[in-house]
Amino acid sequence: MPLELKEIIAARLGENYELHHKHLNRTLVAAQRVIGFDKVYARAEGAYLYDMDNRAYLDFLSGYSVFNVGRNHPVVKKAIRDVLDLDLPNMVQMDCSLLSGLLAEAITKRTPPHLDAVFFCNSGTEAMEGALKFARAATQRKRVLSLESAFHGLSLGSLSLMGCESFTEGFGPLMDEWDTRISLDDIDSLGRELAKRDVAAFVIEPVQGKGCKYPKGDFYQRAQELCRKHGTLLICDEVQTGLGRTGKMFGFEHWNLEPDIITLAKTLSGGYVPCGAIVARRDIYQKTFSRMDRCVVHSTTFGRNNLAMACGLAALEIIDDEKLIENAARMGEMLIQRIDALRTKHSFIKEVRGKGLIIAIEFHEPTEFKLKMAWKLLHKVDKVLFAQMVVTQMLSKHRILTQVAGHAMDVVKILPPLIIGEKEVDLFVAALDDVLTDCRKFPGPMWEIGQNFVRAAMGNKRATPQQPATPVASV
Ligand code: PLP
Repeated sequence: MPLELKEIIAARLGENYELHHKHLNRTLVAAQRVIGFDKVYARAEGAYLYDMDNRAYLDFLSGYSVFNVGRNHPVVKKAIRDVLDLDLPNMVQMDCSLLSGLLAEAITKRTPPHLDAVFFCNSGTEAMEGALKFARAATQRKRVLSLESAFHGLSLGSLSLMGCESFTEGFGPLMDEWDTRISLDDIDSLGRELAKRDVAAFVIEPVQGKGCKYPKGDFYQRAQELCRKHGTLLICDEVQTGLGRTGKMFGFEHWNLEPDIITLAKTLSGGYVPCGAIVARRDIYQKTFSRMDRCVVHSTTFGRNNLAMACGLAALEIIDDEKLIENAARMGEMLIQRIDALRTKHSFIKEVRGKGLIIAIEFHEPTEFKLKMAWKLLHKVDKVLFAQMVVTQMLSKHRILTQVAGHAMDVVKILPPLIIGEKEVDLFVAALDDVLTDCRKFPGPMWEIGQNFVRAAMGNKRATPQQPATPVASV
């Protein structure tokens, strides 16, 4: 009997959380239940997810920026079908496949001319690990500097770049040489560290995933100058910001940077097949693959697989054809302006910031007396609970999926697919306005949600005092 996937899915959809509780990460199941995220999605198209009753949910999370071209895009689907129909030889390994050559060509058409050598892998963190190896091999230096509040992935090397204990706790020791973190805008500290001339690379996300932070002034440009002066490579982690997310092809373009290495993943394959890439200067690349006996010294089995490569070609074509970068810039500006306009009405909103369609809405203590008390109560337990309350209500009342931006931050982050139009902007802004209006009613149903979080968080704290109280805070 062949596998009848359609029948299996039709028969068993709805068992999702039970199966995960039994066989996968039951802590995540519990957390999703607490925050009301335990939905069963049956189908997806474009900017929307649909549940088993065919109710639409507006996806302002895009699978953490994987579905920039929207979900289940027909051009990506066709590319997959074509690869399968052609019975192509896949991952022969001891050959040079056509599709990986074509995708490398397509990527380097879009990068500045000096970034002309590509290495394919399977994920963002893998791209980062590879980039750091390339930097060490090229400079023969050990240290790596990164920024505070950075996120570069959760394998040990990438993790070593991050100061966030919520992610590192329990996994040490990490790489000692990589644990110097620079505050955004602290050019003096950066200069001092680089002057030691033992730093292989300085790593930045042009717009940080956690909280959408970026320098207001010329910190990046000055950092690049200092890197050049002291022989340090500049690595831009474009895993989230690359390929249109920020309203430009790459995030570094906002600061006219010329990084030595960039990393890509997430939306590179249009959302279907894992795919990551390192794009480097050829001279840097060759320092890793420096002799015949080192020709596969850095490699990964599935790196150049045909499905990922074909999807990559399709995704890049869609980004151009549908003018998604221009759309991201326009819709992003509209969203930021319209959310910012809510500040006069809702004193909870501290700041709205972002570039293109990576946007953070940061909250702070409201000015109204009664609300101040409620706010303080919630924040005694965990800094992120107000933002979590907003995210939960956005989903349960308005069926709009968003996320909390990171641990210990009162920030809601939105990452809509780059295909959204004014209709989706209207839906989001009206929903946020309504949820924040509900937040102004204390006591009221919104604060009951908050109380439930507090209860869950306190239970969690009692069980394992080391854990953050927050049910779920992701990047
Ligand atoms: N770098 C950045 C900027 C990211 O946002 C992420 C993931 O969120 C990663 C690296 C890690 O990517 P992956 O989850 O594919 O390993």
